Amino acid sequence: MQQNEMRLEFDSRSCNEGFVRVAVAAFMTQLNPTLEEVADVKTAVSEAVTNAIIHGYEGAVKKVVVECRITGQTLEVKVLDTGKGIEDIPKAMEPMFTTKEECDRAGMGFAFMEAFMDTLKVDSEVGKGTCVTMTRQIGRENKFER
Ligand code: ATP
Ligand code: MG
Repeated sequence: MQQNEMRLEFDSRSCNEGFVRVAVAAFMTQLNPTLEEVADVKTAVSEAVTNAIIHGYEGAVKKVVVECRITGQTLEVKVLDTGKGIEDIPKAMEPMFTTKEECDRAGMGFAFMEAFMDTLKVDSEVGKGTCVTMTRQIGRENKFER
C-alpha cells in the first residue's frame, strides 16, 4: 500500500500550535477529507501538542516532534516530547484527570483525542518523555457519495 510521510520539529512555544495544526491539516488534504475530518484531526493534534508544551516541558523551550504518515486512507499522527513523562498513563487518560488544576485545566485533552480519532496510544517514561500515537481513517463517511 502506498505511504507518504512527513516530520516537523519545532520549539515548544505555544505560538507554534497554530502552525502545526494547519501543517497537519494541509498534509492530510491529499486524502480528500471532509471539513469535519480536518477539524477533528486539528483538535486532536492541538491537544497533544499543548500537552507536550505545558506538561512535558513545563514552559522550558525544547523540541517537539510531530510525525505524520498516510497509509492508504489512514492518517497516523505521532506527537513526541523528551520531557518529564507520565507516571500513571491509565490515570492520566481518565476524563477530568489533570495534574494542573491550579492552571484551570479541565483534564479533557486525552478524552478529546480519543473521541476525535479512531485510535489513541500513549507511551511514556518518567524522565524520558512521551509519545502519543493517533490514527484516523479518512473518507469513510463520504466514500460512496463522491
Ligand atoms: P486539558 O487538556 O483539558 O487542558 P490536561 O492537559 O490536564 O487538561 P489531559 O490533556 O487529558 O488533561 O492530560 C491529563 C494529564 O496527563 C495532564 O494533567 C498531565 O499530568 C499528563 N500529561 C499529558 N500529556 C503529557 C505529556 N506530554 N508529558 C507529561 N505529562 C502529560
Ligand atoms: Mg491537555
